[in-house]
Amino acid sequence: MTGPGTTPEDGARLAAWTEGELGVAGRVLDVVRAPAAVLSTVGERVDPAAAETVQLAADLVATMRVSPGCVGLAAQQVGVAAQVFCVDVSEHPKARTRHGTFVLCNAEVLSASRNERAREGCMSVPDLTGDVKRGSRLVVRGQLPGTGEQVTVATDAFEARALQHEIDHCQGLLFLDRVAGAHAIYPRQTYL
Ligand SMILES: [Zn+2]
Repeated sequence: MTGPGTTPEDGARLAAWTEGELGVAGRVLDVVRAPAAVLSTVGERVDPAAAETVQLAADLVATMRVSPGCVGLAAQQVGVAAQVFCVDVSEHPKARTRHGTFVLCNAEVLSASRNERAREGCMSVPDLTGDVKRGSRLVVRGQLPGTGEQVTVATDAFEARALQHEIDHCQGLLFLDRVAGAHAIYPRQTYL
């Protein structure tokens, strides 16, 4: 799939990425819950090649992997106000385009279109879900941890939603900041 400014090569690069490239073992960290201040703190841009960024990337993937149903985790959720997150929607039934497990640093949305409303949850808000409008067609640009390679990638459907959710975390925003109002927030009954 391609979009504005994207190349198939970038999508293939992202899909081929694995945490093995980081060369460090990830540690499983505690996940911070709202209303922790770090969750509403705008993340600092990072040096993708810095040792601390590489370790953070590995830690995010390790923590995501041991968390049932977790399709993404941002630095804020492990207590670090930085623009780093991981995503993996491989197993999710609502995903169409899938790039597997990846981490992006300093990611930004280049374009988002075809808004759709859907139920969303978050490990940092374990007791609630909410209906959030997000673009279902998305182009994102970011850097890979370690090498610092810049990738511009198009995606859709659930992976697009997960990316927008994680980029929001990096900007100090929760899905609760995006719901239309209290009527669009629900007690969690089943894990997404
Ligand atoms: Zn979240």
